[in-house]
Amino acid sequence: MENQDVIIIGSGPAGYTAGIYTARANLKSLILEGKNPGGQLMTTTTVENFPGHESIDGFELIDRMKTQAEKAGCKTVQLDAIKIEKHMGYFIVTDSMEKTHSARSIILAMGAYPNKLNFTNSDKYWNKGISSCAVCDGALPMFRKQTIVVVGGGDSAMEEALFLSRFASKVVILVRSDKLRASKAMIKKVEANDKIKIRYNNEVIEATGTKDLDNDLLESIIIIDNKTNEKKKIHCAGLFYGIGHTPNTQLVSNIIDLKPNKYIKKISGSKTSIDGIFTCGDVSDDNYRQAITAAASGCEAAIDCSRYLENKV
Ligand code: NDP
Repeated sequence: MENQDVIIIGSGPAGYTAGIYTARANLKSLILEGKNPGGQLMTTTTVENFPGHESIDGFELIDRMKTQAEKAGCKTVQLDAIKIEKHMGYFIVTDSMEKTHSARSIILAMGAYPNKLNFTNSDKYWNKGISSCAVCDGALPMFRKQTIVVVGGGDSAMEEALFLSRFASKVVILVRSDKLRASKAMIKKVEANDKIKIRYNNEVIEATGTKDLDNDLLESIIIIDNKTNEKKKIHCAGLFYGIGHTPNTQLVSNIIDLKPNKYIKKISGSKTSIDGIFTCGDVSDDNYRQAITAAASGCEAAIDCSRYLENKV
């Protein structure tokens, strides 16, 4: 078994940036990218808020990061990590082909996934009007001066609605219950915004599109009042989910301290509760969740990890 200085688990902007930095610090680095590498950017269409790239496809941005990490000297393997153990001072990581890899340190960058809804045509119009990231997609021309629907009653949904109201002509928030879960301050801002309307006890049951053969985009949704069963059609160019995220922490839930919401707990900087294990990106970020903040935290984890290894020698 080849010993690494560091194994990075996960391959979004956080994982690849960590790899670029650890490899350039002359640390023998392996990235276990996962079976489906790239994370959330792979399902994002155009990225327009990553400095240095005015407009770039999510998968292309990821591809460039991967190439840069490999050119810096990182080994990459497209497999999931399924187990982490400690043996004689080394971390032993088992991949999904049952192969083991050993390292002096680990950086956890498994990311999170936005929760999605499942209704008729929800997959068909994903990325064709349906999105889960207003900051990433909200400013796209297809949503400007249009009606946009946001689902959810927490702070994420309120934040998405407020952000989208800058571009949309009207924003409708659909809340499945009869109350919001968001903070008072956020609710106040939403209530003060003339463009935003809230509909309680309503859920989406179907999406329909423009049926344009070349580019079939979302055109309307059907909602149902779950108290009266009354259905209604809303013409809208966009449907944004703000129903929370789930961090990919199953791998470490038994070995590392998590926050009550299941995100990895940072003890200081990027350090986790286990000496030698660091974290970065959305798996430990329940606040910002942007590609650029994930990349920045990947750099931080790599620097913390390098310092840790230097002091261990
Ligand atoms: P929350 O868990 O707080 O809220 C999720 C919302 O989505 C709830 O209203 C929930 O409804 C609704 N929901 C969940 N599943 C469905 C579904 N299948 N159909 C319809 N609605 C659904 O998640 P958030 O992401 O909003 O917030 C997570 C944490 O991050 C919170 O602590 C929040 O305060 C924080 N945050 C803070 C921000 C800020 O301060 N700027 C911005 C964003 C988040 P129900 O209530 O019925 O369960």
